[in-house]
Amino acid sequence: MIPARGYAAQNATTPLGPFNFERREVGENDVLIDILYCGVCHSDIHQARDEWGGSIFPMVPGHEIVGRISKVGGKVTKFKVGDLAGVGCFVDSCRTCASCQEGLEQYCEVHNVQTYNSVEMDGKTPTYGGYSSQITVDEQYTLKISEKLDLKSVAPLLCAGITTYSPLRTWKVGAGHKIAVVGLGGLGHMGVKLAASMGAEVTVLSTSPSKEADAKELGAHKFAVTKDPEQMKALGSYFDFILDTVSAPHDLNMYLSLLKRDGTMILVGAPPEATPLHAFSLIPKRKRIVGSMIGGIAETQEMLDYCAEHNIVSDVEVIPMAEINNAYERMIKGDVRYRFVIDMSTL
Ligand code: NAP
Ligand code: ZN
Ligand code: ZN
Repeated sequence: MIPARGYAAQNATTPLGPFNFERREVGENDVLIDILYCGVCHSDIHQARDEWGGSIFPMVPGHEIVGRISKVGGKVTKFKVGDLAGVGCFVDSCRTCASCQEGLEQYCEVHNVQTYNSVEMDGKTPTYGGYSSQITVDEQYTLKISEKLDLKSVAPLLCAGITTYSPLRTWKVGAGHKIAVVGLGGLGHMGVKLAASMGAEVTVLSTSPSKEADAKELGAHKFAVTKDPEQMKALGSYFDFILDTVSAPHDLNMYLSLLKRDGTMILVGAPPEATPLHAFSLIPKRKRIVGSMIGGIAETQEMLDYCAEHNIVSDVEVIPMAEINNAYERMIKGDVRYRFVIDMSTL
């Protein structure tokens, strides 16, 4: 086994702190990655605090991982020592079900092995995430990272990037479409950049009036404050799409009123609590509400290549590892511009 250092939550209520554990030896299809940066996703908070239920402790969160390969197994073909590499939200899946065969491993019908807060395909070995010194991963679940982009700003693409890219592609969002991005946080700011790069007219719907200038700089064409009923009324039946990235409970019916006929609301934000949905928010204009979860390996690579080609990265605030608990508190208050990324050399 390979000794590793990280930061872990020991239970749902105590702050994260230093934690020593072991990574598996590098198997013939594995690579060992020395982690350089790891993004901080709101899903890390939901899980470390067991807000979704079923959390496994101790938990080393982190699924926006970038680093350099320090060792490769004998059958590895995609990577060599010294290459940049990335790991997103999962590290294995059954590889044979219909979803895996279609490159939709995130929807594996047998078991999608999440990067942390999960167990390996053996059903028992716990997985530990990217708030750590290194990680052993099968090369098939490892992403290639361009040397062209600023590495710390690339890390958030592994979750926030793919989670917004995938539904934009699934629903073919592009020129001629009006899309609202709800919530300008980690996912939201990537949604704005990506949707704008695909040619859509982008409006940010935010609870924070202070984010207007940033929204425009990120590529949004319009900005509206959701707490202002007049501004919401003016956008009634306006949008083809709404990309909802909000992490806390909010009234879906109000947002649905902003869709035009046949409009689609895409949920990616995952508040722990259920929210009421009125049938009449959907029926009169044949609206639909859909969900989307991260993206498969092939699509994640496509997104990374797309971002390298279009020079798209995340706007990040780099923090030392020891600042993580404070970063969580700031994210919960919406005080992040627009993704915290841990500099793993501070571990
Ligand atoms: P984040 O950086 O904390 O951003 C969330 C944003 O939501 C906040 O910045 C804020 O933006 C807005 N918001 C917060 N509380 C709100 C409230 N009560 N009402 C309305 N808006 C509110 O979080 P994130 O990392 O982007 O993650 C967002 C959500 O997506 C989380 O629930 C996360 O678990 C989920 N997620 C899902 C997937 C997936 O595969 N579907 C993947 C990753 C993350 P404003 O200040 O602009 O209002
Ligand atoms: Zn995430
Ligand atoms: Zn599968």
